[in-house]
Amino acid sequence: MTKPPSKTVHAVMRALARAIDNLELPAVEKIARTSQEDPFEVLIATMLSAQTRDAVTAAASARLFRVARTPPTIAKLSEKQIEKLIYPVSFYRHKAKHVRDACRMLVDRFGGRVPSTMEELLMLPGVGRKTANLVLILSFKSLKNVCVDTHVHRISNRLGWVRTRTPDETEQALYKNTRERWWPYINLYLVTWGQNVCRPIYPRCGACAIRGYCPRIGVTQIAKR
Ligand code: SF4
Repeated sequence: MTKPPSKTVHAVMRALARAIDNLELPAVEKIARTSQEDPFEVLIATMLSAQTRDAVTAAASARLFRVARTPPTIAKLSEKQIEKLIYPVSFYRHKAKHVRDACRMLVDRFGGRVPSTMEELLMLPGVGRKTANLVLILSFKSLKNVCVDTHVHRISNRLGWVRTRTPDETEQALYKNTRERWWPYINLYLVTWGQNVCRPIYPRCGACAIRGYCPRIGVTQIAKR
């Protein structure tokens, strides 16, 4: 496929920056801001957030962090205790095990600190590229990473910026097809837009601030208003 013109990407990103100003931030962004970008809180909240509504992620993270908010203290909890604290996030049993095992690895292998490289982050149980990229962007201020979740994947394809089947393919395509200056912002802008306007089904194209730049690839039905 051909690359989107960089002035189109620029116009979309500028329009989204303005349009999301009054919208609610994604849960992990809020947790990052209130914790002063603490890498551990961002890591755990992102692990809990997969396929889970924001309000549920925020409440589960708050319950867990009230009881334990460091790698050694969470590592000492049992899986059952973590399950109870994070329920009803989706896959709470798997996530409880991953959180506990990741905390153990942070203690045993990384001196109780969250590592700051992609390679090391990917060693942690339950941590994939999405989580690692978000920790690198939000907590370690990386300007070289793009974090792709389901919203970023869907909207990048609808906009015609990429033509991909998986979030990992989308991440690699975005490195090729967009300028580096936008990489740290792509997640915040597209996730916020995906939660509010460019929803998975019945996107609100009529109310969309970037409709003039969007070929709506793959969109078959839109919201009436
Ligand atoms: S015009 Fe529709 S499909 Fe395109 S970004 Fe906006 S809401 Fe999504």
